[in-house]
Amino acid sequence: MQKIMSLVDLAMPQSCPGCGTRLNFLDSRSNRVCVRCALSLHGQPHAVRLKGIGDREFPIVAAALYEGPARNILLAAKERNQVVLIPIIAKAALIAVHSLLERVETATPLALVPIPSMPRNLRSRGYNLVEQMAGLIASHLRMHFDDVQVVPILSHNRRVDDQSRLTAKQRALNLSGALTTLDSSLPALKGRQIIIVDDLVTTGSTLLEARRALRLTGANLKGAACAMNSF
Ligand SMILES: [Zn+2]
Repeated sequence: MQKIMSLVDLAMPQSCPGCGTRLNFLDSRSNRVCVRCALSLHGQPHAVRLKGIGDREFPIVAAALYEGPARNILLAAKERNQVVLIPIIAKAALIAVHSLLERVETATPLALVPIPSMPRNLRSRGYNLVEQMAGLIASHLRMHFDDVQVVPILSHNRRVDDQSRLTAKQRALNLSGALTTLDSSLPALKGRQIIIVDDLVTTGSTLLEARRALRLTGANLKGAACAMNSF
């Protein structure tokens, strides 16, 4: 037994990217994080309220607060390219999606629309975090829905500044009118209920811009599901 566990240890990462503790065989090895961090990331889904936006009008749900281990795990995926963490972040967004499903008719096809990465982030990371998350979530939802598609219809139509150092007001200005929908993807949205997917809500300006762009297409938008929120 000891020998087997030593072999398992060799094959798995040694420490949790959320808290830095050494991973034990009871930890969530397949997700590469410890049990405690998995619990904090996959907590209770909660409504994220934006000023002036009614909960029923545009519900936004997140599963974890962007702090402590959850923040460390997202940063490890985004800044240190730890792609093995994508499923555990996707699971947090999936929990948020599930709490939106009571608004969704199971007989009507569903579309998950990922928030697009900034082109420079895509270039430096080499992968699209949110689109990959949406793909994993769609695979899971197909157990409940006959027809679920990821439709990456949103695109940046102009250069936007890095959001990380901007105030809420500056973010809103920076993003105003910055997203558009790709004509080639419009047929894929037709007749579908739509849930926007993102990794992190910071001020909500990106989600509101996505909503604006999608509304112009007459989209049947049901809400937005995010892994984490920072406020
Ligand atoms: Zn941990």
